[in-house]
Amino acid sequence: MKEFEIVCPVGSEPKAREIIARAGGEKMRTVLVKRSLDCRKQPVWRYRYEAYAENEAYAPYVLPEYKDVHGAEPVIVIGAGPAGLFASLKLLSLGLKPVILERGKDVHARKYDMAALSRTGHIDPDSNYCYGEGGAGAFSDGKLFTRSSKRGDIREVLYALVKFGASERILTDAHPHIGSDKLPLVVENIRKEIIARGGEYHFGARVTAVERLEDASFSVRTASGEEFRSSRVILATGHSARDIYEMLRGVGGSLEAKGFALGVRVEHPQEKINYAQYHGQWKQGFPAAEYSFVQQVDGRGVFSFCMCPGGILVPSSTEDGTVVLNGMSNSSRNGALANAGVVVQIEPEDISGDDPFRLMDFQQSVERRMYEYCTTQGASHPLCAPAQRMEDFCLGRISKKMPATSYFPGVLSAPLHELLPPMVATRLQKAFPQVKIHGYYTNAALLLGVESRTSSPVRIPRDPETLEYLSIPGLYPCGEGAGYAGGIVSSAIDGINAATALALGPETLDASVAACRPGRVGLAVARNCL
Ligand SMILES: Cc1cc2nc3c(=O)[nH]c(=O)nc-3n(C[C@H](O)[C@H](O)[C@H](O)COP(=O)(O)OP(=O)(O)OC[C@H]3O[C@@H](n4cnc5c(N)ncnc54)[C@H](O)[C@@H]3O)c2cc1C
Repeated sequence: MKEFEIVCPVGSEPKAREIIARAGGEKMRTVLVKRSLDCRKQPVWRYRYEAYAENEAYAPYVLPEYKDVHGAEPVIVIGAGPAGLFASLKLLSLGLKPVILERGKDVHARKYDMAALSRTGHIDPDSNYCYGEGGAGAFSDGKLFTRSSKRGDIREVLYALVKFGASERILTDAHPHIGSDKLPLVVENIRKEIIARGGEYHFGARVTAVERLEDASFSVRTASGEEFRSSRVILATGHSARDIYEMLRGVGGSLEAKGFALGVRVEHPQEKINYAQYHGQWKQGFPAAEYSFVQQVDGRGVFSFCMCPGGILVPSSTEDGTVVLNGMSNSSRNGALANAGVVVQIEPEDISGDDPFRLMDFQQSVERRMYEYCTTQGASHPLCAPAQRMEDFCLGRISKKMPATSYFPGVLSAPLHELLPPMVATRLQKAFPQVKIHGYYTNAALLLGVESRTSSPVRIPRDPETLEYLSIPGLYPCGEGAGYAGGIVSSAIDGINAATALALGPETLDASVAACRPGRVGLAVARNCL
């Protein structure tokens, strides 16, 4: 096998002639393995290829086959976010029947509730930016990079996303993303596959009780009084389902406080970020620039999170009386503003006491403070966000005039430096002037409160081998809400791992993780260039 790289100016692609010549002739099988944008000098795309001779073994990745599970043993999967959906696909491939209970609506019906949410501020507690088919990942930027390749084979996630409608580019791009205009179709196609193979979906099925019966099977009840039974249950309800944590505590289950991060959403004009990241060489047709940074301030990490180039800010609260922001972008990322979370790590020892919910309560109290500030100051929209220009925030002064924002419910000038907890505000005030991105520290940037749903503030402790809930064997908490994953891909991998452990036992997990080449994900699309 021979490896080579072709460098192209942004806006052009490698020519077949050059690929063949570099590969060593027409008979070679060439495989594009990675495409990355290099802006260190003149912006260029770097295309990395592998070339195989006819007599050389080349084993493209093959997705596990989804079996017909009509009449197979049912497994209840609570939650249809990335963890629940990928757990369900894995169950199909292992010959078990997923029975999905989802509190929200299907991914298309959900859109109307989200539009109403932005317009009126009415939060449907079962259908919003976090709840409904596709989970919190369905209307997001759909960024798919993850650091969790050691936990499982991310090809199983990315190849499945392509099978169900995502662009093949996600297999080779260094920073793959799908976009909120494309994700719903992928989610819908996954549903069609699961149902066609014999799985079940139940929408509007908010689970309120999970009971282990004397024969060790489970009775799962929903708010509408329906009961579902199975011998094993996958719990994939995400990090916003505070009612699920309460439910587990109610039956005496053990829970742990878990560190998470909290801060603000920052909006810059995208052209400023383009200028900085492309060193002034950005042109029409170039991808909107991304950024990320991490700093240590007074012993805690301060970092950018979930950056959405050319994106918009959305209200992602799940309950009334709170203001929470998140970001999303379409596949073209062509909006005028760039947004990102900039957050401070909060550890369990930062909040006194030993209540496992103390970080969750802290998170909720900050979300409420944002809401209360705006309502008491006479905001016209219930989800209006308190906001402050960046330099004003760092210098502790009120902003007189607000710059443009993509946040539809609107903003109100506010002393965010006082509204945020001091351990967050003071670290952010020190961090912003230090960001090493040209022009980042500017009063043209707007900070909005609050970005608080970065990861789960509670962990559902599980057996490290079997992945079962320590307090209830046979119950498999997974994904972001269990406290073992963060982001679309890592939650999906965690769902796959839960389904595998449930169906085949823990030893198979080690084997599947070992099969994943560390450091190299091998996202090759076999493509003969001829
Ligand atoms: C606006 C936004 C943008 C984001 N952008 C990105 C991004 O670009 N890239 C990225 O990697 N991550 C992104 N994230 C985070 C990502 O979406 C989550 O990490 C991921 O969705 C977690 O997957 P999950 O399956 O564990 O949980 P979730 O996606 O939260 O899914 C949980 C599901 O369980 C359901 N549920 C909850 N309680 C119950 C109950 N009691 N009964 C039945 N069902 C229930 C919910 O309705 C939901 O569908 C974004 C999040 C948001 C909100």
